[in-house]
Amino acid sequence: MPGKAEKVNMEKLVSLCQRRGFIFPSSDIYGGLSGCWDYGPVGVELKRNVKDAWWRSIVRERDDIIGMDTSILMNPKVWEASGHVTSFKDPLVECKECHLRWKADDLAEDKCPACGGKLTEERMFNTMFKTFIGPVEEEASTVYLRPETAQGMFVNFPNALNTSRKRLPFGIAQQGKAFRNEITTGNFIFRSREFEMMEFEYFVKPGTDQKWFDYWVEERFNWYVKFGIKKENLGLNPHAQEKLAHYARCCTDITYLFPHGQAELEGIANRTDFDLRQHGEASGRSMEYYDDETKEHYIPYIIEPSAGVDRAILAFVSDAYDEEPDKDEIRVVLHFHTDIAPIKVAVLPLSRKENLAAFARDVYNDLRPCFATQYDDTQSIGRRYRRQDELGTPYCVTVDFQSLEDNMATIRDRDSMNQIRVPVPALKDTLLAKLAGEDLFVLPEGGQIWKQE
Ligand code: ATP
Repeated sequence: MPGKAEKVNMEKLVSLCQRRGFIFPSSDIYGGLSGCWDYGPVGVELKRNVKDAWWRSIVRERDDIIGMDTSILMNPKVWEASGHVTSFKDPLVECKECHLRWKADDLAEDKCPACGGKLTEERMFNTMFKTFIGPVEEEASTVYLRPETAQGMFVNFPNALNTSRKRLPFGIAQQGKAFRNEITTGNFIFRSREFEMMEFEYFVKPGTDQKWFDYWVEERFNWYVKFGIKKENLGLNPHAQEKLAHYARCCTDITYLFPHGQAELEGIANRTDFDLRQHGEASGRSMEYYDDETKEHYIPYIIEPSAGVDRAILAFVSDAYDEEPDKDEIRVVLHFHTDIAPIKVAVLPLSRKENLAAFARDVYNDLRPCFATQYDDTQSIGRRYRRQDELGTPYCVTVDFQSLEDNMATIRDRDSMNQIRVPVPALKDTLLAKLAGEDLFVLPEGGQIWKQE
């Protein structure tokens, strides 16, 4: 049996994602657009689940973090004060022959990797996308597509404080698109030019920042484990002091063993009071906090856990991927955590005969308000199971001619392939319990163990 590392590679993931409607190249019929991706019908469900799982853990289930959704276009002064206009840059070299640009840091040799041509001196290249607001394309109307969602939260610190009546420590969270004109994209959705982030800014009293930094590194690491990522594939990479961004006191990456290697999944930074101080000075608005206990005014420190939605998706898919021997063939299966799985239940009638189809449709209509459910009556039952395994659907509900007589249906478990037979009126509650983690063989009244593979 090949080990996990040999089974999963980027080619297989890309192919599965396209074949099963997870992810397609953007503008596919025109040959794509480098660094941009479209989420298909299954992918969009998966993406929602990842974002919802994060939102539940960070906002809904906590008293100390509030949500926000700030605009992508912001006053350009934001990006001056934040330092992005001057420092969000990569050093580039250009080939004098073919004019391709390369990230200077990535080059091992002093010549163009594409044609071997001579290279120019390094030049700085700002990775923020520019556009124009209003009808005139002039410097005065230049705005940027945000390269991170964080700034929208920093500048809303006074609004959040005044309207939420929160006391320190508290946080602001948001999810949304970010844009970076990355020089080199690649490794599928790992590095894109348009991507989604889920970030929060946790405001703390200076002096307590290290404690909260350590707390959030652990919490965020455990979040990935909670939703099914194997601990052994995760890592922590504390940045060396000399490699820290100018504003950060410390920074630790949560890394994941992606098919192309161990790389950053999420970054947690202690940003000190840098951001609030900068925006306070540039806007003239006070970013201070009044501490009723100590009767002091101060600018809070910020701990920022910043994650990429798309990178998380790549990690979830990669971690869930498995190839298992199944009789004479190989079964490809995505062992997603039930909260992450894009489709929870598939209803599969054994035949398309009218009376059975009507029965199966009733079952389907009963389940779909509760779960993301698919109805599939094409091809053989074996192929339909195979398809659902590739989507990572935890449970298939099969109805057969006997169902018409005994009003029972079969639930087949994705991971063990074991089956139980349950009364149709008990289906919904049984599936709810199984999806919440109950053992398959805990049966509702009248249920039977049907088949153990
Ligand atoms: P990298 O070093 O990989 O470029 P970064 O340190 O610039 O990442 P941050 O600015 O800390 O990344 O962004 C926070 C998170 O956003 C990253 O951990 C990653 O998950 C995600 N992210 C950043 N850039 C991209 C991108 N181009 N495509 C997809 N996700 C990204």
